[in-house]
Amino acid sequence: MIDWDALTTEAAQLLSGYLQIQSLNPPGDERAAAAFLAEHLRWRGFAPKIYESAPHRANLVARLPGDGTKKPILLYNHMDVVEADPTRWSHGPFSGDIRDGYVYGRGAIDMKGMGILQLLALDLLRQTHPQRSRDIIFFAAADEEKGGKFGAQWMIEHHWPELEAEYVWDEGGFGLRDFFGPQPVFTVSIAEKKDLWLKMIAHGDPGHSGMPHENNAINILLRALDRLRSLEAAYELHPIPRRMFRDLSERMPFPKSFLLKNLDNPRFFRLALPALTANHTIAAMLKDTMSITVLQAGGKENIIPERAEATLDLRLLPDRVPAEVVEKLKRLVDDRRIEFQILQAPEPAASSDPDSEFFRVLSEVLFELVPDGLTTPMLSPGTTDSAFFRQKGAQSYGLFPIIITPGELARFHGIDERISLDNLRLGLQITYRVLETMTRM
Ligand SMILES: [Zn+2]
Repeated sequence: MIDWDALTTEAAQLLSGYLQIQSLNPPGDERAAAAFLAEHLRWRGFAPKIYESAPHRANLVARLPGDGTKKPILLYNHMDVVEADPTRWSHGPFSGDIRDGYVYGRGAIDMKGMGILQLLALDLLRQTHPQRSRDIIFFAAADEEKGGKFGAQWMIEHHWPELEAEYVWDEGGFGLRDFFGPQPVFTVSIAEKKDLWLKMIAHGDPGHSGMPHENNAINILLRALDRLRSLEAAYELHPIPRRMFRDLSERMPFPKSFLLKNLDNPRFFRLALPALTANHTIAAMLKDTMSITVLQAGGKENIIPERAEATLDLRLLPDRVPAEVVEKLKRLVDDRRIEFQILQAPEPAASSDPDSEFFRVLSEVLFELVPDGLTTPMLSPGTTDSAFFRQKGAQSYGLFPIIITPGELARFHGIDERISLDNLRLGLQITYRVLETMTRM
């Protein structure tokens, strides 16, 4: 018999200690966090290895071996956390306080909490199942919050044999309560939108602002930006959200259920759009988005500038070809005085299979442990390190297996981030049950 009460207490205490390590990124220093995990892994009989990608940047890998009948599963977590302003927290962001059934601290949800669950579930599997059909790899990465250059990206480039896996279990989605109704919906991220960063440069003529002329670079740029807004208004139903809505329709009352099931029909899609897009996260799954993030022009009150620049952050649906999107923007702008520069174009990215063995087992375990829940694949509007693993052909799934409400989710990168003991227990049970099933002989 597994003593889940004792394990939950152990998880809370371990997490509390881990949250007290200030692995902030920036500046980026994961050495203490890696040493902490290494110590607890060694103490449990693992042989963790630390890889330094740069001074102060540490990645950690540990492996629970199986007999190799099946290919490995990689449990991914990252050790770095985003900044936290202590004056705005009621519990210090690095206190690791355990109070009223919660563990508080920056990283509780993103994603030290999940790292601790993985570590304990892996150790439990080691004790309860000496015979296993595949290796499980525990990978604690550096630098996720700044793009993974010193973390997953570097490790995959330099140490792929140590990480190579059939399946990767990453962060991404959650069990969401009160988003799509009172019953929890586990959204498993299987693909991500892709970042395309562009600079638009308007070239005009300089002049005295007392005698305005048509070729003011600022006017040219503003007109061009206005023309790009039609891109933002073009919604479409990508196959992943289509499947998500179809899954969700089973839980919705009529007529919502009927609409969601039949979004393929353009009339129903149009009818449902206002309700769907009222939620920014869902709206972002249904279109390419564009945000103007930097504007630069002019320097003096009475001079018309000859140059004006805007930086755009576009997030493209997974099947988009960046060069085609840039051509489309040029056509929309239709002004030769505007120059386009690509600052960063995305690599082609694959989606992971929502019908794989891993996804099926995950859904079954979730159904068993949370019978009123629903599991569905999701297209993630944000980016995680999963993109690097998908490029290498691994099937990567993003789910923190806990149940949270919108209020709790707002603490993610926000104030008073925390995780409940109930969720630690649930997350441990889910992680353990999935690993147990996936390593069965
Ligand atoms: Zn994260």
